[in-house]
Amino acid sequence: MGSSPGSIYTLTELRENVVTWRANGEQIGLVPTMGALHDGHLSLVQRAISECDRVVVTIFVNPKQFGPTEDLETYPRDNKSDLQKLAAFDTALAYIPDATKMYGPGFSTRVEVDGLTEHLCGKLRPNFFSGVATIVTKLLIQSLPDRAYFGDKDFQQLLVIRRLATDLDISVDIIGCPVIREPDGLAFSSRNAYLSTRDRITAPALFKILQQTAERAKAGEPCRAAEAWAKNELIQRGFTKVEYVDIRREETLESLDMINERSPRARVFGAAYLGTTRLIDNVTATSHG
Ligand code: AMP
Repeated sequence: MGSSPGSIYTLTELRENVVTWRANGEQIGLVPTMGALHDGHLSLVQRAISECDRVVVTIFVNPKQFGPTEDLETYPRDNKSDLQKLAAFDTALAYIPDATKMYGPGFSTRVEVDGLTEHLCGKLRPNFFSGVATIVTKLLIQSLPDRAYFGDKDFQQLLVIRRLATDLDISVDIIGCPVIREPDGLAFSSRNAYLSTRDRITAPALFKILQQTAERAKAGEPCRAAEAWAKNELIQRGFTKVEYVDIRREETLESLDMINERSPRARVFGAAYLGTTRLIDNVTATSHG
């Protein structure tokens, strides 16, 4: 496939750019995405541009992070519209690699991060984090960035990526960026496009209930009781299934029984279905600054 200005499709082209930029002493930022770009993604691009001379935005629907019954085939893809959105950022280069090149014949390597991936989404989506860790490791090696930007929206993923960069001595700053939300509180997500009109009206309840769960726990309600309240509330509001609402230590994702001013930093994590659409979100639950 040919390249239009601002977009490249091969590792060779990426490496040529990276070699030139590094030779010029330019700072490189990396923003990995699966495309169907929304304001959440664009906030990462904006942040990267404000801190780096060059920014690589990758658009790659990574087959290795989808389970056999998940939505790989139907995941929204719209490179044309993504490139239009990125055109507003003139130092951003879109890198749109092909899956058959990214995982060439005989590809057999996996990056596994233990510990952090045993909780929350890791328990429910068995190959998800090794798929994410493998592709992010490859993208870091391919683009040699000074900084790489990830959203707090996928907080567990951010922790896993921080861990792998530390453990594998990859010289990059992993930067977490705040969750960007629609005016009604729903976190932007490419998967929101799946929601029916009715489910779209219900969806912001996830964020509101997670916030209320945090308030309850901060007010002294035992974490298990606050979580149970939240799960029930989500079902009452019309969610079809709740995978988890868990209050966890922010650094390690370990469970907490109570939150008080002596507790380590904590977050409430939630995953729930509206029909066949799985939504995740998280909010801080720290009772001190
Ligand atoms: P995805 O395309 O869903 O894999 O997301 C690519 C990156 O964008 C990840 O680092 C996500 O955490 C981040 N991201 C997705 N949604 C949001 C959001 N609403 N606010 C901030 N960052 C987000």
